[in-house]
Amino acid sequence: MDELVPCKTCGSEIAKNAKVCPNCGAKNKTQHRVNATLVSVESHNGYVLCEFEIVNNTSKDIRVSSLLSFDCYVDDYATDLDLGALLDTDKPQLDGAVASGKKMRGVLAFKAPSGWKEIEIHYHPSFWSKAIIFSAIHE
Ligand SMILES: [Zn+2]
Repeated sequence: MDELVPCKTCGSEIAKNAKVCPNCGAKNKTQHRVNATLVSVESHNGYVLCEFEIVNNTSKDIRVSSLLSFDCYVDDYATDLDLGALLDTDKPQLDGAVASGKKMRGVLAFKAPSGWKEIEIHYHPSFWSKAIIFSAIHE
C-alpha cells in the first residue's frame, strides 16, 4: 500500500510517489523535497548535540554544510557551532554531498548555557529554499 499525502494544491489524498495529483493535475511536490528529521538532542556541559537525518528526495545532488546550512537559536539568541565538542563524539559530522535518493545522518554541536530551555534549529536545504525548523525543549 502506498503512503498517502495531501496534495499541496487541492488537499486531496494522493500516493506519495505519484508524479501528479489525479484530482487536480498539480505536480506532487512532496516527492521532490529534502526531508530532515531531528533524531536526538543531548545536552552536555556548554553545548547541545543534535543528531539529524537528511533524506534527499530531489532529483539533484545536494550539499550539506554544518556551517552554511544551519542556524541555531538557544532561548531566542543566535548561537554558534561548537566545533571542539565534536571531538567528544564518534558520530559523523553533518557535512558533504548527498546524491539524489540517498540519506545522511550526523551530528551538530551548538554552544548553549547549561540552563538552556529551548533550542531552535533552522535548516536550509539550499540557499534559496525555505528553512525547515526544528525545536526541542530541555528536559
Ligand atoms: Zn490536487
